[in-house]
Order: sequence, then structure tokens, then C-alpha cells
Amino acid sequence: MDWAYQYRDPEKLYLNVTNRCSNRCSFCVRSQTARIGDGLLVGDSEPSLEELLDAIEHRGGPECFSEIVWCGYGEPTIRLDLILDASPIFRDAGARVRLNTNGHACLIHGRDVLPDLGEVVDRVSVSLNAPTAERYIELCDPDLHNVPWKPSPAPVAFWKAMTDFLRRAPHHFAEVQASVVGHTLEADEIERCRMLARDLAGATLRVR
Ligand code: SF4
Repeated sequence: MDWAYQYRDPEKLYLNVTNRCSNRCSFCVRSQTARIGDGLLVGDSEPSLEELLDAIEHRGGPECFSEIVWCGYGEPTIRLDLILDASPIFRDAGARVRLNTNGHACLIHGRDVLPDLGEVVDRVSVSLNAPTAERYIELCDPDLHNVPWKPSPAPVAFWKAMTDFLRRAPHHFAEVQASVVGHTLEADEIERCRMLARDLAGATLRVR
């Protein structure tokens, strides 16, 4: 399993620090391929801070990249402590820090983590994925096992957590984007997502 990998743009380095996720999206690439770019991304292991920094040094070091992206095959904010510890190191090396997230971080950790993330992340991309809670639950099938709450929240809580994260994101990050997976939605649903992203956060919508 590669914790740091490159994909298309040589200026960017992508980090894959967990395969765990609080969603089980029908379109997740984890079910289709073990590789993205030059990285093998499927496995059970997760890096410590030292192991992650070693993996980045193996790619030349953080100073070789204009942007370092927390993403991976799972939800990176499950490794919140790692994001908070490592991101300042990337910034000190001159790299911008981006987070690709499903927006569940506050639900996963049971507290408002946006202020902490906002201290260390420059750009955030939130997977909106659907125009309504009903469609979101249908497409993303939220997985309650990674959320340490008892009793577990209802699936709609994951939609609410994501939209709340997106709505508040402009107060914490310099750039905010929302995204959907184009082939999973009808054209009118994509347009409704575009309007929702704009209304919630003044954000543009990236159709993947
Ligand atoms: S949120 Fe992302 S990593 Fe998680 S299941 Fe969906 S596509 Fe996969």
C-alpha cells in the first residue's frame, strides 16, 4: 500500500492514509481498481506520522510539490490527528494543503473539528454526491461502523453532517469546492447539486 502517490499532475502529491470510510458509495473506485496513478492504494495498514513523512521523502520531499492532497481511497479525516500534525510541515516546505473529504469529520469525531482543520488546510473539496438526503443515502450508503456513537445516528445524520460541513467551510478554508460523480446522477440532479453547493457555500461544483 502506497501512502504517497502521484497522479497526472507532477506538481501534486496525493496521500492515502486510510482505506476506512464512513460511506460505502456505489461508485467508489475501491471496488474497481487497487491503483490510482503510480500508487497501490488498497491495504489494511495505516501510516504513523514518521512513516508518512518517510513515504513523502521517498517521492522527493514536500518541497518538490506545489500542492499536497489528503485523499486516498478512504476518508482522510478518520486520521484527523495525522492531518493536524503533518499539514504544517507541508506548508513550512512551501506546499499548499488540500483536503478531499466526504464532510463527515464532525460526526466521526463527535465534535466540531472545522476550526482545527481550518488552521492547517488551504483548500477543501467536499463530496456532495446528491441533491437530496434520500438520494445521498441511496448512493452513498453511510456506514455506521466507523462512527463511535451509541446509539448510532440515523443515515440522514451523515447527509446533515456533510451539508453542515460544506455550509460552514467558507468560514474556515480559503477555497471551497463541492463535487459529484457525473455518471451516477441525472442531468437535472447535477444542476440541483450545483445550486445547492452555491446556496450552501458559494462553492463551485466539480463534476467528476
Ligand atoms: S466517500 Fe469516497 S472513499 Fe468513501 S466510499 Fe464514497 S467514494 Fe469511496
